[in-house]
Amino acid sequence: MYRVAKEIMISATHRVREHQGGCERIHGHNWKIIVTVGAEQLNEMGMVIDFKDLKKAMHKIIMPMDHNDINTYPPFDIINPTSENLCKYIFDEMSNELNDKRMKVIKVKVFETDTSFASYSI
Ligand SMILES: [Zn+2]
Repeated sequence: MYRVAKEIMISATHRVREHQGGCERIHGHNWKIIVTVGAEQLNEMGMVIDFKDLKKAMHKIIMPMDHNDINTYPPFDIINPTSENLCKYIFDEMSNELNDKRMKVIKVKVFETDTSFASYSI
């Protein structure tokens, strides 16, 4: 399978409800998010997806959280805004947004720090 990936960064606060180790208090991260898209067949231009189109979809889904308190942003007003839950949310939203039979979202990776990250993949 062919794969392409795009990275985006946002700055946003969150707090992990019920966390016993300090993450319950509001704090911020420079979140790095990488979305990987794959396809068995390339399009007529020889691409999985144009990076420009991947960037546009990522901006639509992710940028509303930039400079925001993720805990106020649905569904994270209800579910905990952990890296794991962010991965699944972005995976599902990106899959809906790209909605193409030829290609699909393969993986979403969310970094809270350079050394701490989660991913969701098929
Ligand atoms: Zn945190």
